[in-house]
Amino acid sequence: MEALKQKIRDEGTVLSEHVLKVDAFLNHQIDPALMQQIGHEFAQRFAGQGITKIVTIEASGIAPAVMAGLELGVPVIFARKYQSLTLTDNLYISKVFSFTKQTESTLAISSKHLNAEDHVLLIDDFLANGHAAHALIDLIGQAGASIAGIGVVIEKSFQRGRAELDEQGYRVESLARIGSLKDGLVSFID
Ligand code: 5GP
Repeated sequence: MEALKQKIRDEGTVLSEHVLKVDAFLNHQIDPALMQQIGHEFAQRFAGQGITKIVTIEASGIAPAVMAGLELGVPVIFARKYQSLTLTDNLYISKVFSFTKQTESTLAISSKHLNAEDHVLLIDDFLANGHAAHALIDLIGQAGASIAGIGVVIEKSFQRGRAELDEQGYRVESLARIGSLKDGLVSFID
């Protein structure tokens, strides 16, 4: 998606060979017009797949997921993050290791909102090593729901998440694919 790649070139900051900062338009301040285009692009790529729900993680997945949900006309569920959970009744629970914070947290979705009839599109802001995606896949599996695919705003293709999800047979659609962040430069794959 060219508009997204241009935004990354113009406003992204390479923090290290592994981390890209995009808090000017995605992770802190949000560019609503760009988010709308992102939602439209996801909706086009997953049109006609019988999707009934979108699932994402708080907080940065919510904006692109809501825009895609608006286009597809389906509800959006964000998995909530907890440091610890004592009451786990009626919740699907999974642990996730945070790439940016380097800590583990617990993700939860209420069983009220997701069930075996659902066909889910999973959306997240970044795909790095795939921990977040696998935790969401686990939660969706607990509900007995099926997965139509995974929509990612920015994929860092040099980290292992994408390759693993491909091997496991998931359809992954990434709107910007980064091949390298070496020398402070963002190099896109296509
Ligand atoms: P993964 O779980 O695939 O290793 O990492 C994905 C999650 O970590 C995303 O939900 C995102 O919040 C965060 N993340 C991973 N890489 C980056 C990055 O380069 N920049 C930012 N801002 N967040 C990232």
